[in-house]
Amino acid sequence: MNFTNKFYQSPSYEHWQQEMSDAVSDVATLFAMLELPTPSHAYAPSKFPLRVPKAFVAKMQPRNPRDPLLLQVLPDAAERALVDGYTHDPLAENAHNPIKGLLHKYRSRVLLTLTGACAVHCRYCFRQHFDYIENLPNKSQMRTIIDYITADKSIDEVLFSGGDPLSISNQKLANWLDEISSIPHIRTVRLHTRLPAVLPNRIDDNLLEILHNFTKKGRNLVIVLHINHANEICDNLREKCTKLRQIGATLLNQTVLLKGINDNADTLAALSHTLFSAQILPYYLHILDKVAGAAHFDVPIAQAVAIYWQLLARLSGYLVPKLVQELPNQPYKTPVDIHRYRESQ
Ligand SMILES: *Cc1c(COP(=O)(O)O)cnc(C)c1O
Repeated sequence: MNFTNKFYQSPSYEHWQQEMSDAVSDVATLFAMLELPTPSHAYAPSKFPLRVPKAFVAKMQPRNPRDPLLLQVLPDAAERALVDGYTHDPLAENAHNPIKGLLHKYRSRVLLTLTGACAVHCRYCFRQHFDYIENLPNKSQMRTIIDYITADKSIDEVLFSGGDPLSISNQKLANWLDEISSIPHIRTVRLHTRLPAVLPNRIDDNLLEILHNFTKKGRNLVIVLHINHANEICDNLREKCTKLRQIGATLLNQTVLLKGINDNADTLAALSHTLFSAQILPYYLHILDKVAGAAHFDVPIAQAVAIYWQLLARLSGYLVPKLVQELPNQPYKTPVDIHRYRESQ
């Protein structure tokens, strides 16, 4: 799983912000790093362009045009296809947006979109069309959000999302955590983030200290990583996970089932084992959200279920993520009815 003779070595940076802004943004550069021939007609969308940190490129296999990490970030002309059922707001989130920056869709937890920024543009991102400009909380909206959570005692968990919540500064994160830890009925803060996988250096000492200050107050900290393939787990990420565990964070992972990337039991079993060895537990395996531009990643549900039965048959229970689907207007992530599809095998 580890490529010791990697062609491409990521440069070293002083700050993660530098590393984030030094992301690769054109296909020619990316292909040169991977020793791949420059394509004659690279698809280069202006709206959701190529964006990938060099630390993630360093985990790709050189000279492999089908590398599972490369395919997650490489714009494909197939994105332009208009496919029935694929929309700009597949989860009908706009309907659950009572105040800017806050989604209250499920009971007992709210999700905050703290930023539109992310270090990486995954081609299947379900918030790639989300109206962030409209939805980013400024200082006074932060007050409104905190008041909303304070007033609703049925909420016990606050999710930080985005964009990627770890693309905001440590200072801003510390402010949010301070505000939230002043609300007595909030037990848990949960970060949903892909930054540790694509830019492990984001977990710097100052961030660890800020997160530790939060857990020291007796509150729970959950970090849900977004990792789709075992090759994304490098030594640097493992070290960061150890540090996060030491400050009391619970580490979970969610994966999107993606055609051509992880749509077989071998790949998913290897992912679960590799996650566990990095102290991360598999949480969700998501059926792809039907977001416009991502139809070419779709794995038909019957096939997803067939793969899932194989996982059940070969992995320890705690290594099997829950297979779920996000259906608009459902008050939870819906478990896929795996018995319905069993006959067809
Ligand atoms: C996924 C999601 C959550 C969290 O759901 P869990 O099942 O608790 O992981 C909360 N709010 C929104 C809007 C979500 O999309």
